[in-house]
Amino acid sequence: MNDQHVPVPEDPTIPRSSRRIIVLSAPSGAGKTTIAHRLLEDHPGWKFSVSATTRPRRPNEVDGRDYYFLTVEEFRRRIAHDDLVEWEEIYGNLYGTLKSEVARQLLADEGSRVIFDVDVKGAHAIRNAFPHEAFLIFVAPPSFDELVRRLRSRQTESDESIQRRVERAEMEMGMQNGFDTVIVNDRVDRAVEEIETLLGQ
Ligand code: 5GP
Repeated sequence: MNDQHVPVPEDPTIPRSSRRIIVLSAPSGAGKTTIAHRLLEDHPGWKFSVSATTRPRRPNEVDGRDYYFLTVEEFRRRIAHDDLVEWEEIYGNLYGTLKSEVARQLLADEGSRVIFDVDVKGAHAIRNAFPHEAFLIFVAPPSFDELVRRLRSRQTESDESIQRRVERAEMEMGMQNGFDTVIVNDRVDRAVEEIETLLGQ
């Protein structure tokens, strides 16, 4: 396991309006993927950092757009080659940010921002890697009950998967420290607006 996820505090001397790496972290079911899509719609120049994973592709997902879907062997090979900024094992699958993806997205357009959708530990690892660029947002559900309700209403997860996500969510809800802001996702429009204001958009 990598050990780069010790929280590093935000450097207040670097204006938030100049940070190009926007990291969204949340317990599963808090709605961060919806928020990420909305931010990308509102700001056509912004990019999405496509992570690598060994989790099976869901029917609505596209390889190279939502994730790079790798075999466990390929993912392990990438770790051995030091190809990843950070990686984690989550719900029994491997997830990680490829160095090549960050370089591709950040260098593609020097003025644009890149959105990362990673777990809470991944967020801190990204701050470690890019201390001047990263802005860390923790997306919280309005309540834990609401989070469980949203997870149950998903059609894509098995009962076992939902149970694992609820258990992990308890741990993640306790890891909000070290994030630059906590946004409560009571309504997507409002949450997106709050983020845009914080980023000076
Ligand atoms: P899901 O299976 O629902 O797509 O994602 C499960 C969890 O993995 C989410 O919390 C998501 O943010 C996280 N995740 C996705 N990509 C990465 C990554 O590259 N690194 C880390 N650390 N977590 C990731």
